[in-house]
Amino acid sequence: MKFNLLTIFPHIFDSYINESILKRAQAKDLITINPVNLRDFATDKHSIIDDTPYGGGPGMIMKVEPLYKAIKDIRSKAKKKHRVVLLSPQGKSFTQKVASDYAKLDEITFVCGRYEGFDARVSEFVDEEVSIGSYVLSGGELPALVVTEAVARLLPGVLGHEHSADDETYSKDLDYIEYPQYTRPEVFEVNGQELKVPEILLSGDHQKIKEWRKNKSSKK
Ligand code: SAM
Repeated sequence: MKFNLLTIFPHIFDSYINESILKRAQAKDLITINPVNLRDFATDKHSIIDDTPYGGGPGMIMKVEPLYKAIKDIRSKAKKKHRVVLLSPQGKSFTQKVASDYAKLDEITFVCGRYEGFDARVSEFVDEEVSIGSYVLSGGELPALVVTEAVARLLPGVLGHEHSADDETYSKDLDYIEYPQYTRPEVFEVNGQELKVPEILLSGDHQKIKEWRKNKSSKK
């Protein structure tokens, strides 16, 4: 799957996408992450992509022409199942369900805003608007990374067996929460208190462990 990240800061992703799971997924050719510089689509010689708001008010607004040109260019080269997603705190909420829908695509483009956001006319050229939560960040780059990672880890081969996404929180439905997990030591002593791993997990009885986990998960 190909992820296009349309931004005015194409190098902002460098460190994160070149570590761990996203790095391995790219090395295995399971995903391509393609930062695209919005300034390359500016319509003037100074590569200006923002301007003051009509009607007055603070800050700058991202101009519609460069966004239109960039999205048009990306669409003209895109694979068949492709969607353009505008990142906005005003968009529909990003959930695990949305992540699994996106994981069925061949290509996805995230449009990252900055400043006071976009000229509202850009909505005409994208397929949907998505928010990663009810708070405001300074740019769409972190949301783009959040969505990229949530989608990429659902693609076949991206996670090894040891990191299977099958049992994880929200994997079955949005009410499902994963059971509690423990690792060594069996007893952790702190402030005179012994925090023990539940005995059932040490029993080796797989059926009972399965039932215990199911029970804990639904209680959570
Ligand atoms: N003035 C805009 C508003 O009030 O809705 C907020 C603009 S915000 C400072 C700049 C950019 O960051 C947005 O255009 C968007 O791309 C991104 N952004 C900020 N918070 C976000 C969120 N919760 N989810 C997705 N994108 C977000």
